[in-house]
Amino acid sequence: MKQLSVNPESEQNLFFHNYSRLPIAPTHGKGVWIVGDDGTRYLDMIAGIGVNALGYGDSRLEEAIAEQAKKLIHTSNLFMLRPQFELAAKLIELSGLSKVFFANSGTEAIEAAIKMARKWAAGNDSAAKNEVLSLSNCFHGRTYGAMSLTAKPQYVGGFEPLLPSTGMIAFNDIEDLEKRVSKRTAAVFIEAVQGEGGIHRVSSGFISRLMELREEYGFLIVADEIQAGCGRTGKFFSYDHTPLQPDMVCLAKPLGGGLPLAAVIGSEKVADVLTYGSHGTTFGGNPVACAAGLAMIEAIMDDRLMENALNTGDHMRRQFELLAEKHPQIREIRQYGLMIGVTVEREAKYYVESALKRHILINATSQNVIRLLPPLILTPEEAQQCINALDEIFTEETAGT
Ligand SMILES: *Cc1c(COP(=O)(O)O)cnc(C)c1O
Repeated sequence: MKQLSVNPESEQNLFFHNYSRLPIAPTHGKGVWIVGDDGTRYLDMIAGIGVNALGYGDSRLEEAIAEQAKKLIHTSNLFMLRPQFELAAKLIELSGLSKVFFANSGTEAIEAAIKMARKWAAGNDSAAKNEVLSLSNCFHGRTYGAMSLTAKPQYVGGFEPLLPSTGMIAFNDIEDLEKRVSKRTAAVFIEAVQGEGGIHRVSSGFISRLMELREEYGFLIVADEIQAGCGRTGKFFSYDHTPLQPDMVCLAKPLGGGLPLAAVIGSEKVADVLTYGSHGTTFGGNPVACAAGLAMIEAIMDDRLMENALNTGDHMRRQFELLAEKHPQIREIRQYGLMIGVTVEREAKYYVESALKRHILINATSQNVIRLLPPLILTPEEAQQCINALDEIFTEETAGT
């Protein structure tokens, strides 16, 4: 057989055309650097879309995966698996909540939470209590339930009809919140810091009112911590920067240390909602992924990576503020630990392409937002290389070169 090329042409031939891939074929990585098959090193400020909290090549993570893989790779949830028990206990300790369900991806965690919310509400007063709400500009995933909560034209176009009895509250709009929720509301899903939507934080005022209305109407609040959770904003849960006390929390992206793993953590209120056979997944809580997740959380604590996210993130904000004084193309900087959004004048894609030429990987979201989700191990010195490159790019853009 002819040697298969890993290039954009064979990509077009082999795959459905749902991804816009960078023309890089990574073979390995170390720290915050990823290396292409031609040996080029890239400073990775995307980190597998916020997954690789420890960067690349962390030996503790590799050893935890190898050790568990040598013992047992899969059994299903017909058995009791020690790594699952340990990770569940850890998540309960970190959240102060009561019960855990493991899934494989963010969207599956959201599906599980939607199902639990509806079943919980069905067991309550009125039969019509099944409405699931989310906030405008949010992102909760790609499967039908999660997509119905996301409801952004580019994600849902052509896939209708969506899940019935879903709806949207205008972001940070307390008046709209008061209008939308009612006794028919089963749950409100929120990202304390919206990721895909361009790095926007929900206001404490909105959250306080949401919690009051929860008392009044008796619905659940589900925190989608899939992108902002696991330490990225400087606290383990990004809602810990707000007054929010959620009834359920969804985690995924970095949770499995790079392996597919997600979790729903729930309070006592929902502890008995699921009964035998009412929900499940074959792979959820895979022992290798759970072992990786434990090693990842331990490394975050041992290396004080949440503190590092705060410090390096702070450094980056200050540097971006200096850039903004020089470059009128920068409109706004939003920074929560190592979750950073920079709103720019033109399409952010331009900067992604320009940075790529300088071997720096950044990401664009919401048209004109540069989004940075670097590994939590990023040092201020490494961050500065990204800042300097962007400084050059803005300067060249102004000079028209
Ligand atoms: C990525 C993401 C999801 C979906 O996770 P997948 O693992 O891609 O299904 C859901 N919510 C948020 C906030 C995300 O960032």
